Parts: sequence; structure tokens; C-alpha cells
Amino acid sequence: MALIVQKYGGTSVGSLERIASVAEKVSAARQAGHDLVVVVSAMSGETDRLIRLAKGIDPQPNPRELDVLISTGEQVTIALLSMALEKHGCPARSYTGAQVRILTDSAFNKARILEIDAQRMRKDLAEGRVVVVAGFQGVDEQGNITTLGRGGSDTTGVALAAALKADECQIYTDVDGVYTTDPRVVPEARRLDRITYEEMLEMASLGAKVLQIRSVEFASKYNVPLRVLSSFTEGAGTLITSEEEGMEQALISGIAFNRDEAKLTVLGVPDQPGVAYRILGPIADANIEVDMIVQNIAEDATTDFTFTVHRNDYEKALHILRATASELGAREVSGDSRIVKISLVGVGMRSHAGIASTMFQALAKEGINIRMISTSEIKISVVVDEKYLELGVRALHSAFGLDAGK
Ligand code: ASP
Ligand code: MG
Repeated sequence: MALIVQKYGGTSVGSLERIASVAEKVSAARQAGHDLVVVVSAMSGETDRLIRLAKGIDPQPNPRELDVLISTGEQVTIALLSMALEKHGCPARSYTGAQVRILTDSAFNKARILEIDAQRMRKDLAEGRVVVVAGFQGVDEQGNITTLGRGGSDTTGVALAAALKADECQIYTDVDGVYTTDPRVVPEARRLDRITYEEMLEMASLGAKVLQIRSVEFASKYNVPLRVLSSFTEGAGTLITSEEEGMEQALISGIAFNRDEAKLTVLGVPDQPGVAYRILGPIADANIEVDMIVQNIAEDATTDFTFTVHRNDYEKALHILRATASELGAREVSGDSRIVKISLVGVGMRSHAGIASTMFQALAKEGINIRMISTSEIKISVVVDEKYLELGVRALHSAFGLDAGK
């Protein structure tokens, strides 16, 4: 008999029918002899609706009050699910974050979990009840309601699993697992049986939006086995774990991409100490996040400096960069907001040479020009023109043998 934390996202509890089918799934696991703690999100669209209401009053609503408001979505679903379970003959009890006592800091709208009191949940479990907990919310030291940031129910699930030392945290969602890449771009994309925390973090931060990134960080830190699976279809989903557990290592686990990037270049900057700082300092001061950075080797005492930012920050960054460039006596500033980043991710990269050259060859074959390259231990990223995104991802997916049936 295992202790399992299950988390159901907004679409999984998006209607009464769906809540009833979640209740069925939970009862079935209960019948199989498992102890269950179930975390739910608000019904799909509800959190957005609540935020719109708040903004109808004040475009920048008071953060404390916003949390009081948007935490209500989850209170609705915990109650409905518990009723559905009880009706099913499965004893259940619902708790808000504050009732459990999911203690957080006081950073409203993006609070971090500090401590979870597992006592109340343990007592219910011992008495044979399913415990239903509101995701996304907690309470601070002063008793204020807090929320954990959009998608925060995933983090609630993982945090509860860590606190309870659960055998597994299962995240039920509308996809049946983590894929080698986005199946909308590559129809041959495959569901992965397993992936490491590290790889998942890279995939998630590169734009594969399956789980809230913080939940994966949390799972990794506390070594919580995390499983992503569909609440609509049967299947084992994808297990996210640490690297050790006898995993057969694929060379490349997946291909992630990001359409939201833009690049900026300063040409002919004097090659002197402090130049990188003088270019990026004002960008950081404007709260613009920089992703890739490339500086060329100086040939004639001047150098070119290129970096990427989020596409939404492009105009602002360009404006700042023009001012910096004239102060520095640089020759020219250029930029391109129609670029994308494609990345290969895999822990197998650590122990294998030649991955980069296979990647570049596959792109060359398709006539795709690489504009920037960056590498880390388990990732190689290239920046290419936006129009090559689909072609590039497909070419790489097949070059690395990731296509289904291979
Ligand atoms: N309901 C919250 C949101 O929509 C939290 C979650 O679903 O994870 O962001
Ligand atoms: Mg979600």
C-alpha cells in the first residue's frame, strides 16, 4: 500500500461531469488500497475570470486582496470533489491551504512554501479518509491568505508529497506525459517513459509548458518521484526522477524551442575591460532578462556583442542599447525580433562526443543558417530565423532518432 499525492489541473475539474470522473479515479486508487491526498486547481478559466474581476476594479489590484480573491477558485473545487467522493461512498475531507497549514512567506501572488503541517492529513488518512487540499494557496505567519503564482497547484502537490514522504506525486493533466517535443510541430513526437529532473527543468524553462518549473525544482530538491499523466486517457505517463535509478540513458531526451526571443547586437565596440558590463548593466537595471550572450574575438581592437531577450522586451532593449552604443562609441546597433531558439536536451550528452556536430549537420542539410550557438552540460541551443522553426525541430527530431517507431 502506497501513499500517493494526486494533483488534478483545471481542465480535469472543469465541469461537474469531470469532477465526477476524477472522483471515480480517486475511489479506484483508494479501492486498490492506496492512501490518497488529492490536490486540485480551480475549474479551468476560473482564475483568469477572478483576475479580470479584480482588474475591473483596479488595473493594479492590491496584492493581498488579489490573493483573497483568486484563492477562492480552489475552494470551490475541493468542496465539490469531496462531495463527489462522499457520494461515491469514499470518505473524504477538504481543506484550504490555511486549514492544512501550508505556511508561506508573505510575497503575495508569488509566495514560497516554508513549511507544511502534515498532522491533520495524517490523522484523516489513518481514519481512512481521502484528503482533498486546495492547490495554489497557503497562509503566512500573520494569517494572511497567499497564492503561489500561476500554475502553483503543481507546487502544492509536490510540496505535500515531500512533507508526507509520499511514494509518488502524480500530476493529472490534459496531456498524457512529457513528449520528445511538441507533437503539434512534430507529429512523430513520442511520449517519454522517464526523464530526469534536470532534463525536465531544461525542457520546461525552454518552453515545454507541462509543469510549473518550481514544482520540478521542488521535486528535485526533495527527491519526490513525479509522474505526469492524463486524466482523460489510461497510461503510465512520464516519470520524472533523479538520474541514478537504473535509467537507460538516451542520448537526447527531447527538443525544446522558444518562439519568444529576440536578438540584439552592438557592432564595433571598443574591446576594453568593462564593456560587457556597460552594455548589459543598463539592460539589467531596466529589469530585462538576458538569455544567450555571445562576444566575438576582437580582430581590430573592436568587437561585436550579441545577446537575446524576451521578444516583449525587444523595443525597450533596443532603445537602451542605442544610447549605450553612442556612449561607448560603437559603430552600429542591429537587432532581429524574428528569431527562435531550438535546444537539444539530454543527460547522455555528458558522456558522448559529436552531438553538436550531428546537430549542425542536420541543420545544414536543410539549409538552415545558425545565428547563435550556446552550450551547457546537458543542452545545446541554436538561434535560427523564425521561419525555420518547424523545419529545424523536425530535422533534429529525426536526426537523433526520436521519431516514433524508431
Ligand atoms: N488556479 C491556478 C492557476 O490557474 C493554479 C493552478 O491551476 O495551478 O494558475
Ligand atoms: Mg496548471
